[in-house]
Amino acid sequence: MSAAFDPALHLPDALLERIRSRAAHVDADNVFPEDDLADLAGAGYLRILVPEDLGGAGLSLAQASTLQRRLAGAAPATALAVNMHLVWTAVAKILADRGSDELAFVQRGAAAGEVYAFGISEGGNDLVLFGSDTTAEPLAGGAYAFTGTKIFTSLAPVWTSLGVHGFDSASGRLVYAFVGREGTATRDDWDTLGMRGTQSRTTELRGAAASAAHVVARIDPADGPAPIQFAIFAAFELLVASVYAGLAERAVEVAALALTSRTSKATGRTRSDDPVARARVGEISIAADGIGLQLDALARDLDERVDHGGRWFTLLSGAKHRAVETAQRVVDEALVAAGGSAFRSGHELSRLARDVRAGVFHPSSPDSARETAATFRLGAPGA
Ligand SMILES: Cc1cc2nc3c(=O)[nH]c(=O)nc-3n(C[C@H](O)[C@H](O)[C@H](O)COP(=O)(O)OP(=O)(O)OC[C@H]3O[C@@H](n4cnc5c(N)ncnc54)[C@H](O)[C@@H]3O)c2cc1C
Repeated sequence: MSAAFDPALHLPDALLERIRSRAAHVDADNVFPEDDLADLAGAGYLRILVPEDLGGAGLSLAQASTLQRRLAGAAPATALAVNMHLVWTAVAKILADRGSDELAFVQRGAAAGEVYAFGISEGGNDLVLFGSDTTAEPLAGGAYAFTGTKIFTSLAPVWTSLGVHGFDSASGRLVYAFVGREGTATRDDWDTLGMRGTQSRTTELRGAAASAAHVVARIDPADGPAPIQFAIFAAFELLVASVYAGLAERAVEVAALALTSRTSKATGRTRSDDPVARARVGEISIAADGIGLQLDALARDLDERVDHGGRWFTLLSGAKHRAVETAQRVVDEALVAAGGSAFRSGHELSRLARDVRAGVFHPSSPDSARETAATFRLGAPGA
């Protein structure tokens, strides 16, 4: 990362404070943070990964990861929602850096104000990127129509373009493409434990059409990971992990603040002088710092096109897994440090404790990350 990079240029403190000040209401009212998105779009945040010559900030993945941590520290749900848009612009960048321009239209679209959402998850599809129950029906001239149900579509009320995949049974190909809202319906079904502001509602694809220009890959599933599947996996794991890393960093800050504002009746001194409480905050501070540093290193390797070969998948899913597990532990300890007031539903830590629980559900789940790592070390079972 360049020494000159200043995160506050892209996410100024005043903007973050506005976003932070809205987060409790967004959560309590279970609404999409429209004002946050408008502020972020106005600050150019939706085009941070778009090259400068196309109207973006031309940031690296390492810089985007740093910014997503900063944003998640203000409002995890806003960061996670925007993350899905950033994932597609990151996929475009990863491919472009490796000489492929299939997603150049996504870069131009993001520069022009499109909001991209991530329509990959389907109920019961544990193949995730490598399979789909959605039907991709070929139309004239290379276009496709998609029919199926995508679950957990973050940014549901506001997206303008949805990246999806589906299966074309005639050719035996998995098709990746971008559709508009026409031919889709959004259910009003988001009422969750945490990350309520993402409004990740169910999306019905009812013959939603992608023009030939917006069909970005047709993959034979037997061919192993295609470049776009690697790019999606890498962008998704890195940026999702960044959200939970930022959430953890914020939990440490809130715990430390709580300690300085509580006084012990036994000693008459602030709790921040208590060696046991200090050790607890020290421990979670070390843990939270560790995730950020790991993500910096991983993002730099992606930016610099380091060739980790087949190890990339376990490095990426492992980093996401560690980020989420660590963030959960950090938040749990932060709650103990902050004391009973943090159990009140209006307390920021109480919301962070709910938001952090979403982390295990994003691919790669803990079991899937372990399986990926085990396969890297041991080969496929029975092989
Ligand atoms: C806060 C949050 C935001 C997310 N944002 C996105 C996003 O923007 N884009 C995206 O692609 N994914 C997103 N995800 C989805 C996530 O990546 C997982 O795919 C999702 O959590 C489902 O996990 P699962 O397979 O364990 O769930 P499951 O419990 O297996 O399934 C989830 C839902 O699908 C139903 N279901 C399960 N099996 C079937 C079946 N065979 N047939 C029909 N329905 C079935 C279940 O009833 C349940 O309602 C998000 C997840 C979270 C928690």
